Amino acid sequence: MTKETIFSKIVAGEIPCNKIYEDDLVLAFYDINPDAKIHALVIPKSNHLERLSDLENSDAELIGHMMISIAKIAKKLGIDKTGYRVITNSGDDAHQEVEHLHFHILGGETLGKLNANNKG
Ligand code: AMP
Repeated sequence: MTKETIFSKIVAGEIPCNKIYEDDLVLAFYDINPDAKIHALVIPKSNHLERLSDLENSDAELIGHMMISIAKIAKKLGIDKTGYRVITNSGDDAHQEVEHLHFHILGGETLGKLNANNKG
């Protein structure tokens, strides 16, 4: 899976982003259409994963690195103490729009309560 998406174009520098954090494996930037006062996206630079469902054992190190990066990014954004929510949408039923694995970090305000099946 090496599909070109908006996110792979951002990684390649072909589309600009409002960057928050970058290292060898991940890139984090502000969501263009925020759903909270702070809404960041964290993506792997590699575009071999379209969604969470594609994960294989060989991705364990990358995913561990992404989770640790998310904790660091939340700290950088100043929301580690006040709290935040991390979401990934996987597939059509979850309304995944961009087919490049990504985690949303939402915070900076009190968020709505997350229902198990939020159809709103
Ligand atoms: P998802 O529905 O989980 O696939 O989320 C995709 C997210 O990408 C949405 O929240 C969009 O607002 C966001 N998005 C789409 N294009 C861009 C872009 N060029 N820069 C930043 N965020 C984007």
